[in-house]
Amino acid sequence: MEKASSISKFYQKSREERLALLTERAFLSEETAKLLFNAKGLSEEVANHLIENQISQFTLPMGVALNFIVDGEECLIPMVTEEPSVIAACSNAARFTRATGGFKTSFPERLQTGQMIFYNLEDFSEGKRLIEQRIDEIKQLAQLAHPSIVARGGGLVDLKAHIIYNEKDQAEYLTVYLFVDVKEAMGANIVNTILEGVTPVIQEWLRAEKLMSILSNYNDRALVSSSCSIPFNQLATKELSGDVVAEKIVKASHYAKLDPYRAVTHNKGMMNGIDAVVMATGNDTRAIEAGIHAYAAKDGRYQGLTNWYIDSKSNCLIGELTLPLLLGSLGGAINALPLAKASQELLQTHDAEILGRIICSVGLAQNFAAIRALVTEGIQKGHMSLHASALAIHAGAVGDEIEAIASQLRLLERMNLKTASDLLTVYRQ
Ligand code: NDP
Repeated sequence: MEKASSISKFYQKSREERLALLTERAFLSEETAKLLFNAKGLSEEVANHLIENQISQFTLPMGVALNFIVDGEECLIPMVTEEPSVIAACSNAARFTRATGGFKTSFPERLQTGQMIFYNLEDFSEGKRLIEQRIDEIKQLAQLAHPSIVARGGGLVDLKAHIIYNEKDQAEYLTVYLFVDVKEAMGANIVNTILEGVTPVIQEWLRAEKLMSILSNYNDRALVSSSCSIPFNQLATKELSGDVVAEKIVKASHYAKLDPYRAVTHNKGMMNGIDAVVMATGNDTRAIEAGIHAYAAKDGRYQGLTNWYIDSKSNCLIGELTLPLLLGSLGGAINALPLAKASQELLQTHDAEILGRIICSVGLAQNFAAIRALVTEGIQKGHMSLHASALAIHAGAVGDEIEAIASQLRLLERMNLKTASDLLTVYRQ
């Protein structure tokens, strides 16, 4: 199979040509390419069983980000998004990292978290001690509650008990956290099943009231990191030298640590890429969003999550990102969504851990693309050029009219809906 890097001018090809190329290069089987080409949505049966009160299907475009090397492997990345410029920016950013070998990742542990919350305890410290003494028994209970995940080599790995203090600094709750190896699943249902089996016994030991037992999306026991290195000479623009652009990127990431107004947008830009791959692989976007944003506030203030700094020895800009990411390669809706399976084929992996490594790298690339544009030419130039088609459609253009109006819009200094409508009126005369 030829490397993904040899795919060029992909954006200039028709959809049919793109799929043919991906099949030719063995990224997709003929069958999956056909499925993607003809995709009209889910079958009635699946759609009606996935959610309640189903009345229709809401479709979004799916594309591919190019140029990624993650841990030495070339990869193509499926993305589902309605936002123009996300995929182009991501692919372009990944290109900057290729000379230094792409993205390097680490994923020291990947454990899902559950919590059992109790109150009305006589002695909180004694309750905490009791839990910590009986870890082995709790592990056995967990094993009985979900034997199949244990048979797969997973199950309860670790636990801890915390006394939670209220606003008056009084002990009010005792929470027991379970850390579970959920193997290839995201594991919400696996963990909730384990919690259901373990909670009544612990409640009896503690002689306490149970408030609730539930998975936590704060996945600080599933932290994945990605880093990349970009030589200064690649960063130079017509107006600015590479080291100046690098310095501005470092300042942009520093500023996003200081001001939540900027931090939120800094992280939103990163989530443009992350959500798109999470969606394409049939994973739970809300779980990932909630976990990442909570992690962004882990030091008591909401901050930008990427770190960019300069390595003066190598004259490179270095980027780093650590995220809580617990994704599945099966389970949940993944098996019911044919296009999620097609995404795995395109990614050439069915491994949930590798998916996490790839998605963290996408986040870093997307952030680089955004802040590089912001500190140089600004974001509107590139974004509006790609937004031209959406404006043309909004103005009512159909068929060939869309590209005709979009290309006229791109030549203008400023574009907006009114200009698009005016151009369309003239075009139709
Ligand atoms: P499932 O309930 O589908 O569980 C995955 C199942 O896949 C396991 O029970 C296991 O069954 C089977 N399986 C087969 N092979 C493997 C393998 N190699 N590794 C692991 N499991 C394997 O999915 P999850 O538990 O992952 O739950 C995810 C869903 O839960 C998502 O749809 C999510 O939206 C939803 N959810 C999310 C919540 C949240 O985020 N707060 C809360 C509640 C639900 P077996 O071993 O028995 O064969």
